[in-house]
Amino acid sequence: MSVNFVYLDHAATTPLRPEVRDAMMPYFAEQFGNPSSMHRWGRQARNALEQARERLAAAIGATRREIVFTGGGTEADNMAVLGRWRSACRSDETPGALVCSAIEHKAVGAAAQCAAGEGAELIVLGVDEEGRIELDSLDEALRARPCIVSVMWANNEVGTIEPVAEIAARCREAGIVFHTDAVQALAKLRVRVDETPCDLLSLSAHKVAGPKGIGALFIREGTHVLPLVHGGGQERDLRPGTENVAAAVGFALAAELAAAEQEEEAARLGALRVRLRDGLREQVPELVVNGPARDVLPNILNVTVPGADQEEMLIGLDLEGVAASGASACQSGAIKPSHVLAAMGRISEGGASVRLSLGRNTTAAEVDFATAAFGRVVEQLRIEA
Ligand code: PLP
Repeated sequence: MSVNFVYLDHAATTPLRPEVRDAMMPYFAEQFGNPSSMHRWGRQARNALEQARERLAAAIGATRREIVFTGGGTEADNMAVLGRWRSACRSDETPGALVCSAIEHKAVGAAAQCAAGEGAELIVLGVDEEGRIELDSLDEALRARPCIVSVMWANNEVGTIEPVAEIAARCREAGIVFHTDAVQALAKLRVRVDETPCDLLSLSAHKVAGPKGIGALFIREGTHVLPLVHGGGQERDLRPGTENVAAAVGFALAAELAAAEQEEEAARLGALRVRLRDGLREQVPELVVNGPARDVLPNILNVTVPGADQEEMLIGLDLEGVAASGASACQSGAIKPSHVLAAMGRISEGGASVRLSLGRNTTAAEVDFATAAFGRVVEQLRIEA
């Protein structure tokens, strides 16, 4: 089959799996009940919601009571960071400091800034040129007895995998609550809260072939956070509002499938990533690969073309039929200088930074199509310059 268009922006969002869509459909139709209603429609919806919770929990090694459905990854991150900060402020603890890394998604970064506005001392952990936090700086930050440490499992722009098991263990030993944003890690890595001693963990369905507008926060039994919204008591008062049953059902199935296929799919994607990286290097010898050579997500490749204009590069790729992104697509579509590349010391090098992210449907033929298109766009920009 000939390739004309290639979607290589799966870190921004993924297409819904057909079987996930099918599983959701009844809840848009005959099973439309409100889970809080006492009658049969309500009971049906409640059963579906609780089964979805159970299945999502099982997919990450949690228990049903530890899962709170949210309106997405952003909300889960906010609930973890702000909810934890506010909970610590209310209790007898001295909330003092809040620790996060310099390369967190804005959902964590902006929530941490908000807490800083409420009086938190914000300690930001720097990263090395591969985007990895240094454990020594974590140890030092732990001495400030923060109310929470938040370090993402894997980065959404360059794919760096953080040493979360080690970070979680150090936080646990120090008695400090540890949150990790696993939005990009799920489906690509083995994400199990029974194997990694984190206290809070954020997930989002639309990054794993599930629906948009639903996520979850794993809250380990005994960890306290305050809700961000107030209302009718749903989700054990942590996230009130009538539940999105269809989305919860879709999320649970997408997460189950992702967990079952994770190992095989990661190997397949990893091989495609290497093919893409090597192909691009051949086309553009001066290409700089941002991010580590090892311990990197199998589906994200971030490259810089020195001397090229970022916007022209992305428009050129789009015209060639290749969907990629600049910094992060989650910033209202605007191309802004990446705080991740800046933290890695890469911004000063200048040039066009492009994130290509592979997904479940990506094929070798698509990778080759994108590689050739990338070469043509760079060539064209050179002629115009
Ligand atoms: N965290 C990370 C690492 C992400 O990549 C994203 C989305 O790009 C989010 C959080 C936000 O998730 P959502 O789009 O579900 O709000």
